Amino acid sequence: MTGRIDVVTIFPGYLAPLELSLVGKARAAGLLTVDVHDLRDWTTDAHRTVDDTPFGGGAGMVMRPDVWGRALDEVLAAGADASRTVLVPTPAGEPFTQAMAEELALLLCAGGQLALACGRYEGIDARVAEHYQGTGEVTVREVSIGDYVLNGGEVAALVIIEAVARLLPGVIGNPDSLVEESHGSAGLLEYPVYTKPPGWRGLDVPEVLLSGDHGRIARWRRRRAVDRTAARRPDLIDALGPAQVRPARAADAEALAEVAGRTFPLACPASVPAADAAAFVAEQLSAEMFRRYLRDRRRHVLVAELAGAIVGYTMLAVGAPEDEQVRAAAPGAGAELSKCYTLEGFHGRGVSGALLAETLDLAARLRVDTLWLGVNQANERAQRFYRKHGFQRVGERTFTVGSRTEHDYVMARTLVRP
Ligand code: SAM
Repeated sequence: MTGRIDVVTIFPGYLAPLELSLVGKARAAGLLTVDVHDLRDWTTDAHRTVDDTPFGGGAGMVMRPDVWGRALDEVLAAGADASRTVLVPTPAGEPFTQAMAEELALLLCAGGQLALACGRYEGIDARVAEHYQGTGEVTVREVSIGDYVLNGGEVAALVIIEAVARLLPGVIGNPDSLVEESHGSAGLLEYPVYTKPPGWRGLDVPEVLLSGDHGRIARWRRRRAVDRTAARRPDLIDALGPAQVRPARAADAEALAEVAGRTFPLACPASVPAADAAAFVAEQLSAEMFRRYLRDRRRHVLVAELAGAIVGYTMLAVGAPEDEQVRAAAPGAGAELSKCYTLEGFHGRGVSGALLAETLDLAARLRVDTLWLGVNQANERAQRFYRKHGFQRVGERTFTVGSRTEHDYVMARTLVRP
């Protein structure tokens, strides 16, 4: 069944792009009917007037409801047998989203009608939307394509039609290209994309994309999509809900190494040279080391995952502390919280708190009475976080990062066994 789109405007020429590209081809192939109408065809005076001064005063002109009423009655009659939606573009409308585009595409797929009423000047008399909604025969939606003001609804109509039409079966040659797009079901922005040549102006395509390893490529893309979304649209990250905390698996080693490599240097005080932090990461936080940690029965790694990407992790090392300084500071300690890191873009979203809460639960289940950790003396943010979660400063220790000796506080807390 072919759906139909009707656009009513005082500038039909503005909609000429609907002849082009995918929408133009879809029309030519009979996948979609699009008719553009001149609102002035429904005027009754010699000047073909569509607007008048606003009641209540103020600047600008308002579009007359009687002209719009005649136009929409006639245009909507063409879709009388099907489900009909009138879209009124306005900066004061509900935001137009991919989810709405999908709903409207479904309406068209079912043979429905979409009528777009393009306003100009100060907009259309409010009774037009009210009237059609009140008939109960059509759905009226006042929609905004963004938080800015255009001169008229034509550009908004083009945006809406293009976003909806490309979702119709047969319009896009390869429907797979719709699957991982920004604002799709994953709720993420798309990962960055690359093509030939592999090197251009000193910039190389990421090596993983040339590897042919589909699993690695998929993980890399998911990682970039999540990072990009956190950096550009934290609101979308919030909409994903809380991170899921789970025990790490052997297959997480590479992802853990990446997260560790990004988080460790940021937790070091500015006095630690980048080369020393990098040396520590290479020695202690490589994928190979994580593989080892994950095989070690005395170590327990928990990860926080959002939309399939690891955004934080903790590591619990069960056993009495080896370091003399720690044994003196926290006598009877049964395990170390040896790592607790969350990627920068995910701070302040409850990820670290959820990870730590699960880790404390796990330690209690493992019958640990006292848990200790070392935290750099200059890292006050981390110390505040641990205090908030019941840790207290009990002593000091020295800690080696690359070629440097760093000074840590030892913090500890007792646990209640389940
Ligand atoms: N006075 C209106 C207001 O402040 O809400 C703005 C009217 S605007 C100058 C004229 C027309 O442009 C609107 O009736 C609407 O059709 C269109 N328009 C402007 N900005 C838009 C947006 N962000 N989304 C959708 N349509 C928009």
